[in-house]
Amino acid sequence: MPSRIQTLAGLLLAALAALPAAAESRVNLRLGVLAYQDEERANARYQPLVDYLNAKLVEERVELRVLSEAGLDRAIAADQIDLVTSNPSHFVATRARESLSGALVTLVEDAAGQPVRHLAGAIVARADRAGIDRLADLRDKSIAVPGATSVAGYQAQALELLDAGIRLPGQVRSLLMLESDPAVARAVLEGRADAGFLRAGELERLLAAGLLEPGALKVVAARDAPDFPYQVSTRLYPQWPVYALPHVGERAARHVVAALLDLEADHEAARAAGIHGYTLPADYIAIDEMARALRLPPYDRLPDFTLADAWQRWRLEILLAALAFTVIALLASQLAVVWRRELRERNRVQLLLSALGEGVYGTDRAGHCVFVNQAALDMLGAREEEVLGHDQHALFHHHHPDGRIYPAADCPIQRTAIDGEKRRVEEWFFRKDGRGFPVELVVTPLIEDGRSLGAVAVFQDISTRKAMEARLTELANTDALTGLANRRHFLTELDHELERVQRSGKPGSLLMLDIDHFKRVNDSHGHAAGDRVLQALAGALASHLRRVDRVGRLGGEEFAILMPETPLDSALAYAERLRARIGALVVEAEGASIRFTISIGVAGMDVDDLRADPLLARADAALYRAKQAGRDRVEVAT
Ligand code: GH3
Ligand code: MG
Ligand code: MG
Repeated sequence: MPSRIQTLAGLLLAALAALPAAAESRVNLRLGVLAYQDEERANARYQPLVDYLNAKLVEERVELRVLSEAGLDRAIAADQIDLVTSNPSHFVATRARESLSGALVTLVEDAAGQPVRHLAGAIVARADRAGIDRLADLRDKSIAVPGATSVAGYQAQALELLDAGIRLPGQVRSLLMLESDPAVARAVLEGRADAGFLRAGELERLLAAGLLEPGALKVVAARDAPDFPYQVSTRLYPQWPVYALPHVGERAARHVVAALLDLEADHEAARAAGIHGYTLPADYIAIDEMARALRLPPYDRLPDFTLADAWQRWRLEILLAALAFTVIALLASQLAVVWRRELRERNRVQLLLSALGEGVYGTDRAGHCVFVNQAALDMLGAREEEVLGHDQHALFHHHHPDGRIYPAADCPIQRTAIDGEKRRVEEWFFRKDGRGFPVELVVTPLIEDGRSLGAVAVFQDISTRKAMEARLTELANTDALTGLANRRHFLTELDHELERVQRSGKPGSLLMLDIDHFKRVNDSHGHAAGDRVLQALAGALASHLRRVDRVGRLGGEEFAILMPETPLDSALAYAERLRARIGALVVEAEGASIRFTISIGVAGMDVDDLRADPLLARADAALYRAKQAGRDRVEVAT
């Protein structure tokens, strides 16, 4: 049966011939593995898994490439890698760079037969180290870490610290970069670092291996992690993914996924690799957010992060901050406007006050000066510091012009400061040197919320006006030729005297006198000589008066003397003496020595005399009788 043998042999040969061809036709998949500690360990861990895959896969063949992070990145960039397993943050960075679609599967680690679906970080310190219990306690401390590219050994802890207000590496004293987790534990135990970062689980592994005394290290800021078998200081993150680069065919990827998902925890390869298996791809969004916060690739370029991402992450805070800033800016600008306006206003008020001719000062309710302008200081002869804070009344309002003390209670400024009533008065102020001067004073209350806070005094020196007024009054009251009171003024004084008599009951007397034959003086010596005679008589009358007596020229050569509190007999005796004296008078005028006499009518005035006219008429009648009786005589009114 050579044909059957031939056929079998042919088939065998064909099969044998086909063997290398079949091996040749399997798709080669290079699996890049990130060696996070030493490559040997990674090799030992992953070779059993690769062997498992190669046994399981029909159409593909997997080749293990354990690489450092830099080597892995280079290999990926050079298309020398097809499948990758690396830590989640490396995956996120690569995914962004290579436009990967996502993870194929996610690793499930094994902890004594239990699945560990997450990774996390622990922060440890010596148990006997006081003052390191909370995250905030790590500020300005030295920290040992097992490499900065590890999620569980560095980045997870860094994010927790960032949330606690401490940004690494700037806000700790130092970061001690060590080669492994056991090295970190040693550094902390030996006091070379205040604290250390460990991958969650490492502490337990060190304890189990007897490399660490139980209770020698404590976990800082330990937090609850239900269903997680290790002590942690950070939140939990997804485990390592396995992912395919874009050039890998979908069919091959599907086969690899199926093979990995099919790996049972108790499979020899799984146990050798120390893994529980693989599961459906995890959600790596938490890693994205961590990378963003820590500015890790692909979020390590600041502009990308600070604008859109910052907005997305801190929208509320940014809005609130912007609002607060806007409000503050608005308030500040408002304040500036008000302040400028106030300053302008104050300058204007100052300018106005200093430009005023009037003196202006303000007082509080107690009468103490709170401001004073230059004009006031000039008039009062004082310096600002001598006035401000002092009692204005005691300073320049202390006496009346006649020397009487001016009680503060009567001071119009003081009164306005208290009762809030406006006042306009003529007053008398004293300069610092003691000289007084009349002022016209307007006092205005300073009112706020219906309450008087003080007063503003505006005053002007009215010395000149007063002098002018006095001069005008004098002119109006005085006879120009003789300088005696004129008729109108004398009659006013007579009215006052009659009132006084009414009040006091003390009688006085009135003398009316007239020059005898005065026409002859004028006729003989001229009008000017007549004037001289009138003046001489006025002088004689004035010089012989008592202080209380009043004399006036009633008109022409007719005069009157008012003698208050003088009984009729005294007045008669006086009149007699006066008549005799005038008769003896010689007036030199126009080259002549002129002598003349007077006739006098005397009338007593008592409480019955209510008006001047009847009194004057009685005196006039007595004078007339004196003339009738021959002149140079004194007659008493009846
Ligand atoms: P008798 O004794 O009766 O009073 O006579 P008499 O001359 O004084 O008469 P009478 O009172 O009538 O005259 C007053 C004169 O005084 C008339 C007037 O010219 C004159 N006389 C009046 N006022 C002035 C004056 O101011 N200056 C001068 N020089 N003469 C005046
Ligand atoms: Mg006469
Ligand atoms: Mg006469």
